[in-house]
Amino acid sequence: MSDFKALVIEKNDGAQSITLKDLSDSDLMDGDVTIRVSHSTVNYKDGLAITGKAPVVRRFPMIPGIDLAGVVESSSHPDYKPGDSVVLNGWGLGETHFGGYSERARVKGDWLVPLPQGLRADEAMAVGTAGYTAMLCVLALEAHGLEPSMGPAVVTGAAGGVGSIAVALLAKLGWHVIAVTGRTSEKDYLEGLGASEIIDRSELSGPGKPLGKERWIAGVDAVGSHTLANLLSMTRYGGAIAACGLAQGLDLPASVAPFILRGVSLLGVDSVMCPRPKRLVAWQRLARDLDRAKLDATRTDITLADVPATAQAIIEGRVRGRMVVTIPG
Ligand code: NDP
Repeated sequence: MSDFKALVIEKNDGAQSITLKDLSDSDLMDGDVTIRVSHSTVNYKDGLAITGKAPVVRRFPMIPGIDLAGVVESSSHPDYKPGDSVVLNGWGLGETHFGGYSERARVKGDWLVPLPQGLRADEAMAVGTAGYTAMLCVLALEAHGLEPSMGPAVVTGAAGGVGSIAVALLAKLGWHVIAVTGRTSEKDYLEGLGASEIIDRSELSGPGKPLGKERWIAGVDAVGSHTLANLLSMTRYGGAIAACGLAQGLDLPASVAPFILRGVSLLGVDSVMCPRPKRLVAWQRLARDLDRAKLDATRTDITLADVPATAQAIIEGRVRGRMVVTIPG
C-alpha cells in the first residue's frame, strides 16, 4: 500500500469543497488496471463538477477529472500490462468513478485506449475529452457525406476547448472554417488555428428566423440554445450540424423548417458512453489529422493545485483553448 495525492470533492451540509489530500491504494475504487497518472486536463464538465454548478458528481467523496493519461502500474486485464501508456476519457470518470486529478487511478481496462502512436501523454491531454469530442463531430459530418468542396464549416464556442480543436482539425482537412466567438480579441489566435472568417457570437445568440440565408454546409456546435437554432436555420440544403455542447443553454428554441424544407440534419454527439471502436478511430484520426504546432498553440500548462481556480475560470468563459495538468508522482 503506498500513499498518493489527489484532489477530493466532499459535500457537507449541502456545501461542496475541494481539497488536495493524501490517500492510499485501499481508498481507490474497484478496477482491473492501476495507473500512474501523469497528466489530466480541465474541460467545461470538470468546471461544472468542481464548482457544483451542475450535478455532474454522482457520489461523494469524489476525485474529479473526466480525463487521464498515464502508465499502467499493474493489471489483471488481458489487453494491458505494466509499462503500457494509456488514455481514458469519460465512462463516468470523475462522475461515478474516481477520476484523473490524482497521482494514481484504478479503473476498468475496458475503458482504456492505448496512447495513440505519435502522441505523447501530455499531448493526449491537450486534446482531452474536448478534442476527442471535436473529432467525433468531424467524423459525424464525414459519415453524413460532407466534404470541404461543398462549402464552409461553422464552429461555435471557437475559442474554447472543443471549438479550438474543431477549428484546427477542420482547417487541416481543407475546410473553409467560420469561427463563432464572443472573444473577437482572439481573432489572431483563431486565424492561427486555421479559421478563415470570424463571426461575433452576438450575431447568432438571440432568437432568429425559422429559415435564414444559407451560410454553411457543416457545423460543430458546442453552445446549444438560440445559437444552435440559428446555425440550423442558416445551413445550406442537405447540410448538417454536429451538436455536442450546451455552453449557452440546454434548450433548443428551433423550428422544423430547416429539416423539412432544406433536408438539414442535426447530428448528436456524445463522448462519454461512445463505444470503444469509434474511440479508437477518433484517437487514430487525432494522431494523424491534428497539427502539433496548432495543438501547442491551444494549450496552457497548470498543476493540480491550479485546478480549482481553472474550473471557476472555464465556467466563466475565461479559459482559452485547452489546459494540461501535469501530475508529478
Ligand atoms: P469551454 O469552456 O472550453 O468552451 C466553451 C466555449 O463556449 C467558450 O469558450 C465560449 O467560446 C463559448 N460560450 C461560453 N458561454 C457562452 C454563451 N453564453 N453563449 C455562447 N457561447 C458561449 O468548454 P469545452 O470546450 O470543454 O466544452 C464545450 C461544450 O461542449 C460544453 O457545453 C461541454 O459540456 C460540451 N461537451 C460535450 C461533450 C459530449 O460528450 N457531448 C464532450 C465535451 C464537451 P467563445 O469565447 O469563443 O465565445
